[in-house]
Amino acid sequence: MKTLQKLKKYLVEIKKNDKSGKKINAFLQLNPDAVEQAKKIDSKKKKGKLAGKIIAVKSNINVKGLNASCASKTLENYKSPYDATIIKKIKEEDGLIIGMTNMDEFACGWSGETSAFGPTKNPQALDLVAGGSSSGSAASVSAEFCDMALGSDTGGSIRVPASHCGVVGIKPTYSSVSRYGLIDMCMSFDQIGSFAKNVFDAGLLLSVIQGKDNNDSISQESKKLNLKEIEKTPKNITVGLLDFPISDKKIQELIEKRVDEAVRKYNWKIKKIKIPYIDLAIATYFPIVYVEFFSATRRFDGRKYGKRIEDVAGPEVLRRILGGSEISRAEHHGRYYHLALKAKKLIEEEFAKAFKGIDCIISPVVPRLPHKIGIKISSEEMFQYDALTCPMNIVGNCAISIPAGKVENIPVGMQIVCDKFEDGKMLRIARSFEKL
Ligand code: GLN
Repeated sequence: MKTLQKLKKYLVEIKKNDKSGKKINAFLQLNPDAVEQAKKIDSKKKKGKLAGKIIAVKSNINVKGLNASCASKTLENYKSPYDATIIKKIKEEDGLIIGMTNMDEFACGWSGETSAFGPTKNPQALDLVAGGSSSGSAASVSAEFCDMALGSDTGGSIRVPASHCGVVGIKPTYSSVSRYGLIDMCMSFDQIGSFAKNVFDAGLLLSVIQGKDNNDSISQESKKLNLKEIEKTPKNITVGLLDFPISDKKIQELIEKRVDEAVRKYNWKIKKIKIPYIDLAIATYFPIVYVEFFSATRRFDGRKYGKRIEDVAGPEVLRRILGGSEISRAEHHGRYYHLALKAKKLIEEEFAKAFKGIDCIISPVVPRLPHKIGIKISSEEMFQYDALTCPMNIVGNCAISIPAGKVENIPVGMQIVCDKFEDGKMLRIARSFEKL
C-alpha cells in the first residue's frame, strides 16, 4: 500500500478513537506535515527500507519541529530544534513520522498514569492501564494507529507496555542504538528501542536505528541484523527458564506452556535457572535512577527550556528529584549510590555466569496483570511491574517482549533475554515462538 493511502487509513482511525470514541489518548501531537511528507515518499523512484511504514515516536525523542514534551508541563511548549540521530536515520530510509506519543512524565512510571495529559487506555482492555512508561507508543501500535513506534526503556518502559497491549517491544543491547536526541532519564540504563505488531517489523525498525554514532560517546557498532536470518529457527538452543516467584500463577503457567511447546517442536533443551541477587534489582535500580534523574533535570530551571521543573511537575517526578538530591549529598554517597553500583556489579557477574550454559532466559515480562486506570495501588505493587525487566537494564543485555497469549482476556507478554550484542539470535528465537 502507498504511504499516503496507509497514512490516511491510520488518520481516520486516530480521529475515530484517540480523543473521541474509545478515547485511547495515545498521541500528544500529530505531525502536521505528514500528508505532504507521505506524498514526497510516494513520488520517489528509489525508496528506502522503511518506505510505506508509519511510525509513532515517544515524546522524549527530538523530532525537528514537533513537541518533545516528555508528557510534562515543563516542556509543554518546547519545539525540537533538531532530529535525534535515530530520527534522521528513519527519515533517510523513508519512514514517515505520524506523531508524538503519550508517556509517563519524563519516563518516570509504570502505568502511563503519571502523564500530565491524562493516562493512555489499553486498547485491548479499555478500563486498564496500557503500561508505562512508553504507554502511547505501545497503544498506538495496538490500536491500529500506526505500523511501528519508538520508545525508550530504562527499567522496562518498552517491554511492560508491549506486554499489556499485546504487541512486540524490543529493548536492544545497551549502547547499540544512539541516544543523541533522547531526553535522558538515567544515562546508565536508558535505551531506545522499537515496537511493532510482529517480530519482523520490530527487527526492521531496529536494523535501521542501530549502530555507532559519534554524538553518543558510549554507542557501539553491533553485528548488523540480517532480517532474512530471522526466519531461520535456531538449532541446539538451551532455554533458561527463570525461577522467580510470580504472584499470578496463571501468568507463569501460560509462559511455561509456550516454552514447552517450543522445546518439543524445535527439539530445544530447557533448564530451570536461578540468578542470585536478581531480587536486589529494584533496590539497585532506584538509587541509581534517582541520582542520575536528579542530575538530568537540573537543566530544566526555567531559563532555557520551558518552565522550572519543580514548579509544574507531578508527584512522581518530584519524589525522584527530592530523593536524588538527598542520595547524592556527599555524606550519603557510600551509603546508597556506591552500594547500588556494587550490587550492579554483582548482578552483572551472575548474568555472565548464567549465560555460559544457556542461550536465552525466558520469563513473563510482568509478574501481574495491569490494574484499572485511576485506582490507587501501593508503591510495592507498582515496583512489581518492572521486577523482571529492570535487571536487564542493570546488566545491559538485549530483551524482547512478545505476545504469549491471554489471561482473563488480557494480553500477557513473554520476555526473551539474550547475551549482549546477541540481538539477532534473540529475534530468531522470538520469531520461532511467533511461528508456533
Ligand atoms: N518503571 C520504571 C521507572 O519508573 C522504568 C521506567 C522506564 O523504563 N523509563 O523508573
